[in-house]
Amino acid sequence: MVRSINHIGIAVRSIDEMRAFYEDVLGARYEGEETVPDQGVRVGFFLVGDVRLELLEPIDDESPVARFIERRGPGLHHIACAVDDLDARIAQLKTRGVRLIDEDARSGAHHMRIAFLHPKASGGVLTELCQPVESNEG
Ligand code: ZN
Repeated sequence: MVRSINHIGIAVRSIDEMRAFYEDVLGARYEGEETVPDQGVRVGFFLVGDVRLELLEPIDDESPVARFIERRGPGLHHIACAVDDLDARIAQLKTRGVRLIDEDARSGAHHMRIAFLHPKASGGVLTELCQPVESNEG
């Protein structure tokens, strides 16, 4: 069902503050940033080897990431699994009664269509399914 881990999401108070750690301490390669107004976050992309980290900085106090940081502090936020046919996977999960946050795919950062599973469905680990927009064309 899942092809690979696509990225790991980490909630931070400030991408700028954490950038030195990821670049200088871990040797990650900074790839750039993107704002996802829909989710109330700025997202900073870093590559560690071939694994992408997404640093999520809230730009809106009411955003899910802001509430996450308020409740649990900054830290590991979600893992994202790449799938081939996101709509089919969502339909399959619904059929199996798996709790979802997103009943329909929506747009995420980095040209992805995404859907979050409910953390109660996955032992407390917020899990995202994602599919590059390109591979959904045609
Ligand atoms: Zn993500």
